Amino acid sequence: MPLTGQVALVTGSGRGIGRAIALALAEAGADLVINDVDQASGEATVADLEALGRQAIFQAADVVDEAQVEAMIEAVVAHFGRLDILVNNAGLTRDGLLVRMTEEQWDLVLDVNLKGAFNCTKAAARPMMKARAGRIINIASIAGITGNPGQANYSASKGGLIALTKTSALELARRGINCNAVAPGFIETAMTEQLSEEVRAGWLERIPLGRGGTPEEVAAAVVFLAGRASAYMTGQVLVVDGGMVM
Ligand code: NAP
Repeated sequence: MPLTGQVALVTGSGRGIGRAIALALAEAGADLVINDVDQASGEATVADLEALGRQAIFQAADVVDEAQVEAMIEAVVAHFGRLDILVNNAGLTRDGLLVRMTEEQWDLVLDVNLKGAFNCTKAAARPMMKARAGRIINIASIAGITGNPGQANYSASKGGLIALTKTSALELARRGINCNAVAPGFIETAMTEQLSEEVRAGWLERIPLGRGGTPEEVAAAVVFLAGRASAYMTGQVLVVDGGMVM
């Protein structure tokens, strides 16, 4: 299996796309660190990974809190002795029109989606730099490329995450660390379940392939960016959106 012997940390992997990414990396042979703020869902993912025959541990850290993130990375290195792959997946939305958006809505989304990824990248880069190898994969969104009405905070956080991906790629390339992003379009998870029928229909109309994507389809792109097949790629954004953005 292509990722046998490697250790991957996926933030926000108790459910949704993060969980699918963890399972797909495990199927490719990796051992996993599951991070989430919710203990029950994180531990359920760990049990599923162990059933696949992989080693997995749960780390209940809030990615916004630098001290918790540093402690998590230290715990990973203490347990596994290495960290090869970081997937910055934890994210949330607090939608509203720009003129009505509150400071709290803005701050929370920027904190989790962008500062969270910065905290994890900074902490994970240390063991990766020492090893002179590593893969960092950020889960952005097409909203960070095109913008999206009602998502000033979310699209700014994801656009920022794409810029962070490119800067990390430039700074870490000489240390053997590749940094890339995946930009999903409309994926069927709890995040998109909250949308009204009207908004869902509007999205589906704009997708050339005629359907929403699955978490597993995003996970497949992450497995590619974590493996040897993408060794000569860094600073790139892989769009997984059924053809919405071309
Ligand atoms: P989801 O089902 O809401 O899952 C998000 C996960 O992130 C949850 O497990 C959540 O934990 C965790 N999380 C939230 N805040 C956290 C924090 N501060 N620290 C650690 N974990 C935290 O969402 P999803 O649809 O799978 O989205 C995953 C990623 O894909 C996000 O970055 C999202 O922006 C991106 N994305 C999604 C879509 C889509 O259509 N679904 C499209 C483009 C991009 P709890 O369970 O405790 O809340």
